[in-house]
Amino acid sequence: MRQYFVEKKLEINEIFDFNEKQSHHIKTVLRMKVGEKIRVVDSNNDVFLVEIDIDSKVRGKVLENIFDLSDVSEITYCAALIKKDKWNFLLQKAAELGATKVVPLISNRTIFKIDEQRLEKRIQRWNKITLEACQQSNRSSKCEVERPIKLKEIDKFLSENNIVAYENEQNICLADCIDEKSITFVIGPEGGLTEDEIEYLQSLNFTCVSLGKRILRAETAGLYVLSVIDAKRNSL
Ligand code: SAM
Repeated sequence: MRQYFVEKKLEINEIFDFNEKQSHHIKTVLRMKVGEKIRVVDSNNDVFLVEIDIDSKVRGKVLENIFDLSDVSEITYCAALIKKDKWNFLLQKAAELGATKVVPLISNRTIFKIDEQRLEKRIQRWNKITLEACQQSNRSSKCEVERPIKLKEIDKFLSENNIVAYENEQNICLADCIDEKSITFVIGPEGGLTEDEIEYLQSLNFTCVSLGKRILRAETAGLYVLSVIDAKRNSL
């Protein structure tokens, strides 16, 4: 079933207008008919079954609340910035796989250069990519993309459980560190994190984990972590 996010709190039986872009999508792209039903997530992250009505405008009638427990605890993905095409892919897949926040990281070996003048537009574009992926994958929560931060500022994004994927870790494997608690995880850039950076993260109580014997590309490593979190949580 199709899903949209609206920026207001919805009530049962309320009739509301979809915005211009959503109206175009419902009427012209999907060619939906009066009476068809979709899911709508409101500003409280409550999910509703909504019936479509189309005349000069596209409206929705709120029928009932759908309980959705799919995104129970927060997953903050701190990802070292990588090249644009891979970064956009990473954002889309991270949203599909359940990340609730992506924090772009600038670490010592990050090659990506921030163009301050174009940054606001980029952040908007990044959030558009994750919003569309959340809608497409029927998530009831959004995946916010933050402003890029330096690794030293990561203390603003700590969770109950904090891990860093480190290819030199030999003893602790990712799957043993996942539970129901909120989690922040860090993935380094293509050149990896430096020893100093790893020590800094450990001083903030990050646990180093291995993702196995193979060295994964940065974007693969992040998606691997999200998949393991999903598999572990949904089998608990
Ligand atoms: N430059 C490093 C090297 O050649 O050894 C590899 C860096 S890897 C391409 C990019 C990031 O993915 C790493 O900083 C780490 O966070 C994560 N990563 C990739 N493979 C991993 C593994 N097997 N275990 C733990 N982390 C891994």
